[in-house]
Order: sequence, then C-alpha cells, then structure tokens
Amino acid sequence: MPPTAPDRTLTDRLSAATTVVGVIGDPVDHSLSPRLHNTAFDHWGLDWVSVGFPVRAGEVPTALAGALALGVRGLSVTMPHKHAVASLVDRCSSLAERVGAVNCLVVDGGGWVGHNTDGPGLVAALRRGGRFDPAGHRCLVVGAGGAARAVVAALADAGALEVVVVNRTAERAAAAATLAGSVGRVGTADDAGHCQLVVNATPLGMGASGTGTRAFPIDPSLLGPGQLVVDLVYHPAVTPWLEAVREGGASVVNGLGMLVHQAALQLALWTGLDPPEEALWRAVGPASG
Ligand code: NAP
Repeated sequence: MPPTAPDRTLTDRLSAATTVVGVIGDPVDHSLSPRLHNTAFDHWGLDWVSVGFPVRAGEVPTALAGALALGVRGLSVTMPHKHAVASLVDRCSSLAERVGAVNCLVVDGGGWVGHNTDGPGLVAALRRGGRFDPAGHRCLVVGAGGAARAVVAALADAGALEVVVVNRTAERAAAAATLAGSVGRVGTADDAGHCQLVVNATPLGMGASGTGTRAFPIDPSLLGPGQLVVDLVYHPAVTPWLEAVREGGASVVNGLGMLVHQAALQLALWTGLDPPEEALWRAVGPASG
C-alpha cells in the first residue's frame, strides 16, 4: 500500500514566520519532548514547531546565545544540562533557583529566564483525575539528584505532611531534604512503610528488561496495599521494581505522567495557552497504573 499522504505537508506547515522552540540535551534524539510540543501546536493550530538540538556540555553557553540570536522562543532542557543552565540564565524562577536546576527556558526581556516544571509536573500528574493529593500525606523520595530535588521541593510546596529523603550518598540526601523546609528529613528504607507516597527518583531499573533485577530502590516487601508507588523511570513502562511492588498490592505509576505534565507546564509558559492534556497523554501512549 502506498503511504498515506499527510493532511498538511511541511511545505504547507512551515515558513519563515514559523516560531521555533526545542529541546537541548546530550543525547537528545530519543526525547519525547518535540512530539509533546508539536501535538499541542497541532491542537491549537499554532504556526510553531519543536525540534531536538543535540548540545555537548561545553557548548551550552554558545547554544543559548545562538538560540537567542536566532529568535528561538523557548527551550526544554534535559540531561545532562539542567544544572549547568541554572547558572547561565539571566534570571531564574524562585523554584528553579531553590532546586538549582532548570528544565525550561523562556525568552523574556531579550534574555533567558529559567524555570523548573519537573516537580510541579509530577504533582499535577498525581492529582490528575483525583488520584492523589500530596497535601497532608507522608511522602518518601529515593534519590537526591536533580529530579529528586525538584520532586522534594514540589511535594513540600503541595502541602505534604512529611517528605523523607533516602539516598546512597548521605550528604546529598541532607541537602535535598532541606528543600522541603520544616517537613523534610533524611530517612532510611524502613520509613517507606508509613508513607502514603513512595517515589523512585534514581535511574535504577532504567532500560531494564524482564524481571529479576535485584538492585531495587526500596525492598518491595516494605510496600503494600494503600500506598501509591511512583517510578520516575518510564523506559521500560513497567520497571522490574514496579512489577514487584504491584504484585505486593501497592498502586503503581511510571514517569510518563510527570513527563506529560512538565511539558504541559512548559507549553503554558511559552504560549500563555491552556495545554491540551488529554491530547498530550495520547501522544505518549498509555501509562502504567
Ligand atoms: P541524577 O541527578 O544523576 O541523580 C541520580 C540519583 O540516583 C542520585 O541521587 C544517585 O545517588 C542515585 N543513584 C544513581 N545510581 C544509583 C545506584 N546504583 N544505587 C543507588 N542510588 C543511585 O539523575 P536525575 O536527573 O535526578 O534523574 C533520576 C531519574 O529520574 C532518571 O532515571 C531520569 O530519567 C528520571 N527522570 C524522569 C523524569 C520524568 O519526566 N519522568 C524527569 C526527570 C528525571 P548519589 O547521590 O549517591 O549519587
């Protein structure tokens, strides 16, 4: 069968007037961000396009200056640049400054303003459909890197009763826990049993296939019914850890929801429009849980 002609060709769709946004990272070719952004632009009928820009670590300052000079309107920032970009922008939102990481750049007043939508994105994903509101609940976060710090700050801002940080390196756990202010503290895996929400913010399980991986963020036997367990990893869609936790009776979700909602918040920052969340969810396929 001949390929179906697209409704609108690139010639129809793109022109010298098209507004360009994109994602910078290294690598960036696997990123789902342009797909999410372009889904929204199609939905809105906006003459905007999003593409991936592979940028090596030493070239981030040049890339940001070049993108600004070329009239790029906004950039999503992914691994490994989120931390470096925070010190290169003209201004940061208070959350991005507190977390020390930027995942979204917006042009304002002729310069780049850095935002962090990762943590608020996770909270929005949890609240979707009334599933879980962190307010008044005990939460535990495994990890103390960029994603964990964003999540710790967002859970505290969302009114969590307690945010416990568990991490391999103790000093980093302590630094992350301070982001939750008076409700933050460093803990151990044994704290997981009394938390309503448990989040894996380490790469453990990423790219794993099948079951049998024993390098789990938290021993699944410590988790069970009545708990919501989130793995920020979404490749594979169900990590061996989530599989084991689900067998123990806890509710599980992967990181696709955070990905969708952090992108939705970026789209709102760039355009001022209300993002089409259902279309964005459809663009990445079904999430677990
Ligand atoms: P990161 O800054 O490199 O931090 C990684 C954290 O994981 C550190 O706290 C590190 O502990 C810990 N860790 C790494 N390997 C470990 C191991 N073998 N055993 C125990 N702890 C280990 O990474 P990140 O940017 O925070 O990302 C973390 C994960 O979140 C990644 O899988 C990333 O893909 C995912 N993520 C998902 C989304 C989403 O939208 N779903 C968004 C952002 C990130 P130490 O402090 O001891 O080194």
